[in-house]
Amino acid sequence: MRKTERYRHFTDYFTTHFPEPETELTFANPYELIVAVVLSAQCTDKRVNLVTPALLAQFPTPAHLAAASAEEIFPFIRSISYPNNKAKHLAGLGRMLAQDFGGEVPASIEELQRLPGVGRKTANVVVSVVYNQPAMAVDTHVFRVSHRLGLVPKTATTPLAVEKELVRHIPEILIPKAHHWLILHGRYICVARQPKCAQCPLTSWCKYYADVISKQEIIPKKTAPKVVKGEINNESGTTK
Ligand code: SF4
Repeated sequence: MRKTERYRHFTDYFTTHFPEPETELTFANPYELIVAVVLSAQCTDKRVNLVTPALLAQFPTPAHLAAASAEEIFPFIRSISYPNNKAKHLAGLGRMLAQDFGGEVPASIEELQRLPGVGRKTANVVVSVVYNQPAMAVDTHVFRVSHRLGLVPKTATTPLAVEKELVRHIPEILIPKAHHWLILHGRYICVARQPKCAQCPLTSWCKYYADVISKQEIIPKKTAPKVVKGEINNESGTTK
């Protein structure tokens, strides 16, 4: 199947079935989003959503965060991954937002990446979600699912290479949505260890399904279990 066809299947399916995908992080403004995205590195959105209400009640603006030390922030985020580092990042983030950006979250990827704890992925999430710009944040789900679907080649071995490939092929207007489509599909269906292909509506054009999964499901005739009358056959007869 040609790549353009795969992209057409991808955008057709998701625009029809998930026309308005959204981030699962809870936030009310750009500041709250950037705090949540910084906290979400190596952590689930669900867990982040558990800590942000109390954190943001205590530090409701960049100015409040700027006035706090990492030690004061730590107790609010102790239950998430890497709390020490993230507390330091948030303290620095608050200071830079307050001092260099007038308390506003900048809208450019370059400026966002100057903020402590903000890499290219976080910057892309912010400009995509807040400012609806055609930026593709590549996290572990986007990376895995886009490879499995055959949207990107095997040679795209870095998040940046995957980002460039996806941005080149997906219509600009759909890029912010495509980011969520790939994340949500990876989170709930095309999970890392054992993709739930039996529940997946994309099998007819998924490259990984065609190349790997469909072949696993074929039962070779030679190994098909023999059923002998009067015997209980415990073999499943399926290949793993
Ligand atoms: S068919 Fe399987 S491997 Fe392909 S996208 Fe669906 S769950 Fe993932």
